[in-house]
Amino acid sequence: MKKAFITGITGQDGAYLSKFLLEQGYEVHGGVRRISQPDTPRLDRLGITKDVHLHDFDLSEVNNIRRVIEKTQVDEFYNLAAQSFVGSSWELPIYAADANGVGVVRILDCLRMVAPETRFYQASTSEMFGLVQEVPQKETTRLYPRSPYGVAKVYGHYITMNYRESFDMHASSGILFNHESPLRGKEFVTRKITLALAAIARGGNDPVVLGNLDAKRDWGFAGDYVRGMWMMLQQEKADDYVLATGVTTPIRDFVTFAGESLGMDLAWDGEGVNETAVDRKTGKKIVEISEEFFRPAEVDLLIGDPTKARDELKWEPKVTIRELAEMMAKSDYDDLA
Ligand code: NDP
Ligand code: GDP
Repeated sequence: MKKAFITGITGQDGAYLSKFLLEQGYEVHGGVRRISQPDTPRLDRLGITKDVHLHDFDLSEVNNIRRVIEKTQVDEFYNLAAQSFVGSSWELPIYAADANGVGVVRILDCLRMVAPETRFYQASTSEMFGLVQEVPQKETTRLYPRSPYGVAKVYGHYITMNYRESFDMHASSGILFNHESPLRGKEFVTRKITLALAAIARGGNDPVVLGNLDAKRDWGFAGDYVRGMWMMLQQEKADDYVLATGVTTPIRDFVTFAGESLGMDLAWDGEGVNETAVDRKTGKKIVEISEEFFRPAEVDLLIGDPTKARDELKWEPKVTIRELAEMMAKSDYDDLA
């Protein structure tokens, strides 16, 4: 039986990856950081909390990382833990640098000393492309991060590549474009939208207050993307791969798709901070804009080219953006029953 360790097992991707690896017959271990009230809602939701082995783990604590690696002796190590919300990274830039940058080399250096044969996956991100230098973005596109989150992830990305080249370690980076699900953090724009629209569809009257509706993202389903992470570690040689759908959608259209799946017919009106959306059927206001949700520097357009993953890994995303919006909106609606 193969063994895997997942940092960030309590997060969206950690939960889906755990489920996927359990289905492949793996013994799954995961790192949970010490917080005041231990909680595993995502693992609970997938019904797998009792099937995984949880260990105290923090990216900031190198001796803890070393002990966990020595104790578990896994075949595959997936580093999904991070300060993962771009919007907060201007408020927490030093923590983002430590967790998303230095945290990666803490793990790699422990693996190098204690378990150099363990295969390593690093959760790199399309946010590294930031002010995009090429459309669509692929593995060779020049990086231009636009947030403390993105800058820290660039370090994590290059140090993974460097340990692969310096020490011949099987260390791969997945450059993943945004991927969402009913388990997505509530502050990310997709989930914020589906939660708010579901509450309105259940009789609520509070519009969702958003920022830049013109930003475009290449959104896929997290369940498809964790399969791609695993595929990378099954390759004979480690490498870097973009996982994306190749389709980009403005935030505004995601609102429209989520609204349609809940029976709404949105009419958009106005511009900039005065833009609104109203449901023609009920007359309710659905969207308002506030300066509060605009960012100091924006990533306006992300669209990925997943050709390498398709050709070498035989990876394909299965869920379209409309299906994703519907899956998330209906899940939030059902939860309010
Ligand atoms: P989540 O925010 O859902 O999960 C992040 C996880 O990291 C949580 O389990 C969190 O623990 C843990 N964590 C945070 N800080 C620490 C720390 N100091 N020590 C140990 N654990 C910590 O993120 P996702 O699942 O969406 O993303 C997984 C990874 O993929 C992240 O690295 C993210 O940056 C990256 N990524 C995500 C994309 C996406 O669209 N989802 C796109 C590209 C990359 P806790 O539960 O205690 O908060
Ligand atoms: P990110 O791509 O990892 O930053 O994912 P997010 O879901 O947080 O943001 C995606 C895009 O939505 C960014 O360009 C944001 O500026 C934009 N956006 C617009 N309104 C909001 C909002 O209210 N919350 C968030 N999180 N993002 C918003």
